[in-house]
Amino acid sequence: HAKQTGRGVCETYNPSLTEAFEEKRQAFELVKEAIHEGRLLPHYQPIFDLSSQRIKGVEALARIQNKDGSIVGPAKFWHALFEPKSALAVDETILDIALRDFAEWKSKGLDIDFISINASSLCIQSMDYVERVLEALAHNNLQPHHLKIEVVENIFLDDADSKITHVLERLSEAGVIIALDDFGTGYASLSHLRDYPVNCIKIDQSFVSGLGESAGNTAIVQALVSLGKSLNLDIIAEGIETQGQLDFMSAVGCTFGQGYLFSKPISAHQMSDYLKQASFPLLGDTNPSVAGK
Ligand code: C2E
Ligand code: MG
Ligand code: MG
Ligand code: MG
Repeated sequence: HAKQTGRGVCETYNPSLTEAFEEKRQAFELVKEAIHEGRLLPHYQPIFDLSSQRIKGVEALARIQNKDGSIVGPAKFWHALFEPKSALAVDETILDIALRDFAEWKSKGLDIDFISINASSLCIQSMDYVERVLEALAHNNLQPHHLKIEVVENIFLDDADSKITHVLERLSEAGVIIALDDFGTGYASLSHLRDYPVNCIKIDQSFVSGLGESAGNTAIVQALVSLGKSLNLDIIAEGIETQGQLDFMSAVGCTFGQGYLFSKPISAHQMSDYLKQASFPLLGDTNPSVAGK
């Protein structure tokens, strides 16, 4: 690769560039092979209604099952989420499997309102994304409101031609729920909440984990929650790990939460069992037990 940059360019001798290139190549290869062999699968993490303590939805998170059975998350194939071909392949694969799993849980009578997927800007800008999503929903006999699409706020930064906004508007008009992921960490301005078709914000886990560490952090979380509420948005706190964090988020009126305190991301099979327990709690026991730890 470095050779392409030409003679006499010092990049030729920069080992870190070669390493970076090699790392990317490996990520693409890993993803390509995994998709080809059916080893790219979502794991699922429950999202709870904090006041009723019931599961509202689950988030699908991409995982690769290695040939030795070990499971790796996006950190091991991060670059692939930023290269058009593999990003699209990952997101489409996860969309299809997640909707299929969700439809199966619904058909078993399990009580769950939505499935959340993460979409990269490359995927959203791809040809016929709206049609693809709506077809996948119809194919699984699901309604648009069963699907939540999580995007990071930064995708609006390179949306000069409004293509992404337009796609999200069409999905939103069709009834699909749009969530801003990692809210508060990006470069988006608050006007995005007003100008873009967003129904839900996910407060980034760095704010949740920082609760109690500084007065400033706590004030930001409170402000994000009340901003979301006054704009009539659903608010999900990400990365709740302790009872103290849960108590705080409930007290400030955050509606939903997810995190290791409830469950780590688990396989479709484990999630099916988890939902069975959560959907049909023992009499008097409204607190679903913690799984997947
Ligand atoms: P995200 O969408 O913000 O997902 C939340 C991440 O936090 C997940 O990491 C999840 O496993 C982790 N997490 C959940 N609860 C806790 C907690 O209590 N404590 C801590 N420390 N972490 C928690 P994961 O699965 O490694 O995913 C990382 C990121 O990769 C995701 O962040 C998302 O941006 C991206 N990603 C995952 N799946 C997909 C996908 O199918 N497509 C695309 N485009 N991106 C994906
Ligand atoms: Mg329900
Ligand atoms: Mg997400
Ligand atoms: Mg997030």
